[in-house]
Amino acid sequence: ARLSQVTKAETTCNYCAVGCRFDLYGKDGEVLGVRPAEDAKSAPANDFSTCVKGKFGYEFANSDDRLDTPLIKEDGEFREATWEEAIDEIHENLTAIREEHGTDSIAVTSSSKATNEENFLNQKFARQVLQTPHVDNCARLCHSSTVAGLQQTVGYGAMATRINEDVGETDCYLITGSNTTESHPVLATRIKQNARDGADLFVFDPRKVGLAEHATQYSRTRPGSDIAWINGMVHHIISEGLHDEEFIENRTKHFDELKEKVEPFTPERVEELTSVPPEELKEAAETIAKADTCIFGWAMGMTQHAHGTRNVLAMTNLALVTGNMGKPGAGLSPFRGQNNVQGGGGDMGPAPHTLPGYQDLEDDEVLDKFEDAWGVRPPDRVGLRLPEQYEAMAEGEIRGMYIMGENPALSEPDSTEAQQAVQQLDFLAVQDIFLTETAEYADVVLPAASAAEKSGTFTNTERRIQRVRPAIDPPGQAKSDLDILTRLADRFGYEWDYDDPSDVMAEISSLVPIYGGVDYDRLAEEDGSLQWPVWDADHAGTPYLYEKEFNFEDGLARFVPADYAGPKEMPDEEYPLMLTTGRVLYHWHTGTMTRRVEALMHSVPESFVTIHPNMAETLGVKDGEYVRVHSRRGSIVVRADVEETSDEGVVFIPMHFARGAVNELTSHETDPTSFIPEYKVSSVRIEPL
Ligand code: SF4
Repeated sequence: ARLSQVTKAETTCNYCAVGCRFDLYGKDGEVLGVRPAEDAKSAPANDFSTCVKGKFGYEFANSDDRLDTPLIKEDGEFREATWEEAIDEIHENLTAIREEHGTDSIAVTSSSKATNEENFLNQKFARQVLQTPHVDNCARLCHSSTVAGLQQTVGYGAMATRINEDVGETDCYLITGSNTTESHPVLATRIKQNARDGADLFVFDPRKVGLAEHATQYSRTRPGSDIAWINGMVHHIISEGLHDEEFIENRTKHFDELKEKVEPFTPERVEELTSVPPEELKEAAETIAKADTCIFGWAMGMTQHAHGTRNVLAMTNLALVTGNMGKPGAGLSPFRGQNNVQGGGGDMGPAPHTLPGYQDLEDDEVLDKFEDAWGVRPPDRVGLRLPEQYEAMAEGEIRGMYIMGENPALSEPDSTEAQQAVQQLDFLAVQDIFLTETAEYADVVLPAASAAEKSGTFTNTERRIQRVRPAIDPPGQAKSDLDILTRLADRFGYEWDYDDPSDVMAEISSLVPIYGGVDYDRLAEEDGSLQWPVWDADHAGTPYLYEKEFNFEDGLARFVPADYAGPKEMPDEEYPLMLTTGRVLYHWHTGTMTRRVEALMHSVPESFVTIHPNMAETLGVKDGEYVRVHSRRGSIVVRADVEETSDEGVVFIPMHFARGAVNELTSHETDPTSFIPEYKVSSVRIEPL
């Protein structure tokens, strides 16, 4: 039935992975507004507040730009089409490509903006219907190195702690590579409140980010030098005898290996590599080691490097050596980015190297289980990760692509090259809520429902599974990603029998052990959420991980030493500045939603580059003037923002804009373990216009 009355939907924010809960009001196809959830029990992460994106950001759902009908490209122009025509077109083209070039010539992209149920179905569409191993998602580009690092050392590729009870109440923080006040604002509020109440807060970052204003100590680091200062802290703690011997003895292995490997990282050597003064390194290391509890928080400043996985290994070693795991108020706390990147991007398995729930795709028992449920055995080989897929597209090995809710034309590194690769495809289908920069290249575009218009679940950064509910109907003929995928599977001859997203969750819980006890009744009746692992219907979920054992057969965490490596591309005569990239408070990722919200655009209307005043003077650039920024990949024109967040040799450009798109400059060097690109460091030069 159409939702023609004022409707209140208790739902979860669709921006960042803090996962704030609020009531969303809608009427006659328009979102009216947001009010933070009144019942604190149903709002575990945010109690009574939201940030500016949560409050005003829903306006995108009302935009006149929303896609409301399927589109088919003919002679280079889109024409409106019926659903039947569009689905037929996709079926016909993907079938032809598969017949001519084989199953592995098609790739599928999933999206952390979509629900868990939709991501599960996206990988099912790839594995069961298309039978391709090449399914991946945007987590590859943000925290894949976090997942790879944590899986090697402690077992689960996820935050070990809770936002309120642990991050909000610890004695000490080490926060690095996270502009928390802009990227995870409500989480940052928790940290600031606790720091005001006396918790020690150490911020290590190349940029003096907002949180640094509240820090006990801010230490400026050289971009890409994290392994050195973290190893240096571990070395100092061990050499001062401040390590937690009992914890190391009882709960870990390979400590001697670590001890030997960190030996060269003396405070003086660390200063040479990172620019962090010895006294700052020692002060932070000693305070962290002596604190009863410490939270280690990071985001993409740590992960988006060609050695991102090693950064995470180093951080894990620091947490383990100080015994800060498996107890309330302590632990490794990667701040995942998007609303549902933990669940949709990770847990649901739209990734080429793992089945849902991080199950081994080469394990026959696991494959048998999926084959019994689906009637088709999933491909038992590792597929191509996103960066590899774009290389394979350029080489003509991948010929067809299906993209759900992602915008790689702006989000891939070296985006001009990525756009060229997309244009070489024989066929591209995109399902999205707007005609994105990527959808412009598509042969068929399908109109999707936004989070304001559908039902399902998101899993936030603390592994908390929460409900998403509709406040309005989708515009025109738009459908949820779940409905679209179901219709598509049906056209390929697979009858997916789902009346409701809860039916998909029932399938997930039967196949994915860490979601084994999740169902919609429990999410409605208990406290509105469950934190995985939830092993079965009687299991209450797991507030913080590793209380008794780490996620390995022997129950022990592993020290895995991290050898030092710096950025792949360093400044030189031609490109003398280091470029780093990231988010701002008022926008989100490639800006497809926030660039359509007046209140947010009013605050930050265009791309910019931050330049230190001394560098601006050297370059002859004044604040507000437009400049051209060049890298080895391309050049863009952006406004100069002369300010002192970074030091003289480092400039910053946000990732959110199509004009002045920073990824025209970034490098496609990737981490060899996780395949995450090195967005965070490339070399540029700036010219006044
Ligand atoms: Fe949404 Fe994150 Fe803001 Fe909360 S902090 S309202 S989840 S964007």
